[in-house]
Amino acid sequence: MKTIGLIGGMSWESTAHYYRVLNQETAARLGGLHSAPLLIHSLDFAPIAAMQSAGDWDGAGAILAQSAKTLVAAGAGIIGLATNTMHVVADAIADTLGAPFLHIADPTGDALLADGFRTIGLLGTRFTMEMGFYRERLEARGLTVLVPEVGRTNLNGIIYDELCRGIVLDASRTTYVDAIARLQGRGAEAVILGCTEIGMLIDDAVSPLPVYDTTDLHAKALVDAALA
Ligand code: GLU
Repeated sequence: MKTIGLIGGMSWESTAHYYRVLNQETAARLGGLHSAPLLIHSLDFAPIAAMQSAGDWDGAGAILAQSAKTLVAAGAGIIGLATNTMHVVADAIADTLGAPFLHIADPTGDALLADGFRTIGLLGTRFTMEMGFYRERLEARGLTVLVPEVGRTNLNGIIYDELCRGIVLDASRTTYVDAIARLQGRGAEAVILGCTEIGMLIDDAVSPLPVYDTTDLHAKALVDAALA
């Protein structure tokens, strides 16, 4: 099994969840006391979030590319970036790397297509919902992607002000469930949790639509790739 390299800390709440799933999946596949050979480079999220707000994507991309190189130099054979939003700079990371980079949208698209879904809702930060880098990657594979028409600022605020700080509120869960119901009303057949913290709030038990959690799907795909 290759060593998995994870660029994390964005936020550390979801990186902790990755750590658990990567090890659980490795144990499920290999049995016994097996766990994932794994390197995590966990960044300080505050300066990265400030660069997002300032639109300094080149600066943030340079930091993440350096992180990926550090992981490869330390022995990682497959690289994952544990945030959807920062995949806006995926090319800056992947282009300079001596190891495969597993884009978070790809296992999610694979799962949706395999399950026969074509029109899907996408929830995430305002960057992920509005900038196009994520939606277009899914649309290139034949999916029709709907994002919320209203309330995007509130959905975004819940991610940064609550979930990334470990705060999980029932009122915010209701806000997300309502957003999913509105996407369903516009024709969405399933919903992508396109932010690695939304799984703290939403699962299949509370969602009106089938849920595709990018954190879980990405972590499982990283284990698959490390074992391939
Ligand atoms: N983890 C989140 C995501 O998947 C948001 C935090 C960030 O901006 O990186 O998009």
